[in-house]
Amino acid sequence: CGVFGIWGHDKAAELTYYGLHSMQHRGQEGAGVVVSDGRELNVHKGLGLVNDVFKQAKFSEFSGDKAVGHVRYSTQGGKTHENVQPLVFRSQTEGMALAHNGNIINADKLRGQLEDQGSILQTSSDTEVLAHLIKRDGMAINETSITAALNRITGAYAFLILTEDKMYAALDPSGVRPLSIGRLGSAYVMASETCAFDQIGATFEREVLPGELITISDDGITSTRFAMRGQRKMCAMEYVYLSRPDSDVNEVNVHAARKRMGMELAKEAPVDADMVIGVPDSSISAAIGYAEASGLPYEMGIIKNRYIGRTFIQPSQELREQGVKLKLAPVRGIVAGKRIVMIDDSVVRGTTSKRIVHMLKQAGASEVHVRIASPPIQYPCYYGIDMSTRDELVAANHSVGDIGKMIGADSIEYLSVIGLKEAIVKDKTIHQGICTACMTGNYPITEDREQQVVYRD
Ligand code: 5GP
Ligand code: SF4
Ligand code: MG
Repeated sequence: CGVFGIWGHDKAAELTYYGLHSMQHRGQEGAGVVVSDGRELNVHKGLGLVNDVFKQAKFSEFSGDKAVGHVRYSTQGGKTHENVQPLVFRSQTEGMALAHNGNIINADKLRGQLEDQGSILQTSSDTEVLAHLIKRDGMAINETSITAALNRITGAYAFLILTEDKMYAALDPSGVRPLSIGRLGSAYVMASETCAFDQIGATFEREVLPGELITISDDGITSTRFAMRGQRKMCAMEYVYLSRPDSDVNEVNVHAARKRMGMELAKEAPVDADMVIGVPDSSISAAIGYAEASGLPYEMGIIKNRYIGRTFIQPSQELREQGVKLKLAPVRGIVAGKRIVMIDDSVVRGTTSKRIVHMLKQAGASEVHVRIASPPIQYPCYYGIDMSTRDELVAANHSVGDIGKMIGADSIEYLSVIGLKEAIVKDKTIHQGICTACMTGNYPITEDREQQVVYRD
């Protein structure tokens, strides 16, 4: 998912729309904007792409200079209208809108406790749990009640909360998900990805820190710590495939990191071939890196139909397979008779790679060597990336050699975990711990806080 917030700009709703549009790749199931004019919260949201949801919207009618927005793909909670964010809660005295990227791993337990105490939850989304924790016993919405609520939840989260007259931003104590602060004139801007700042002409100011709670009001911006700062554990998959190449995630440019992943991969897994090709769009940076480091030419061997969304957003395996077919086509004149290194950024279910190897061979490629610019994904993600069951992960149940056979590759190799981390943290001046739990099984956050895994990179 992606979150966006803006405080103190008379075009708040419109800018939120543009910000969300630039983060469309983070979620295509639903989108929403909530605007405050200082007195009340106005909601506009729906299922579908940002453009579809706001097709008829006249932003001049959304009065207010503060807004939060969200693009959703569901990792928790169903794909229904009630779960589209921001979620809005109103009492007689005040209201709040919540936008969340991540996953609360103790949500079920907390939900049970809240229901035992008489709360009625309206959605199946884990985000609603936070709202109820904040408002329990009729507490006012302020730093104190938000801090208390945050201290009861465990997981990976970047939250934006908008009330009539304040905006809050919070990041989990391990800082697994990205969240940055920017400025646009005198306005404050918050976004999951810095590409949203560029989109609206805002400048990056800084990252929200792990365990930090930020409050923005007409008096300015203040910061407190609601939890001891642990070592940052930024999600490796943000760099591998999720974020946009023009974004900087924790001050590391995503395209540059991907390119280094490709370069590392060329060192670790060289192959005698005629050309390197990448699977559009997310693997192109790594393919360029592989080509540069190996000295092989980079070629455009696969074309993407730009009118189709990212395959993984499709809900069922059947639709996913259809989606892949609709999405990619080989460039026959380039690949025929050639030995190809095909770079993909990651393998989850194996659908994409299998289809592409087949496609390239049908187009006449003599050999297809698959090189994956990340390590095998063997463990589920509990932190908000859509890989939550082991069954669907091909590398959880098969050896690398078997995967190669299954997808019909002439050879297959993955980037090592060390290689991946090296590629991300190239600039050692940046204090950067990386979550690689889906590749190593080392989970930095567990439901039972006492069991929290402490390890060093
Ligand atoms: P597969 O087809 O193996 O299930 O998915 C891997 C491909 O889809 C990669 O090319 C990657 O860019 C993209 N992708 C789709 N969904 C996800 C996801 O949830 N995680 C990762 N790592 N990649 C995904
Ligand atoms: Fe990212 Fe994997 Fe960690 Fe999930 S488990 S947060 S996908 S690195
Ligand atoms: Mg891809």
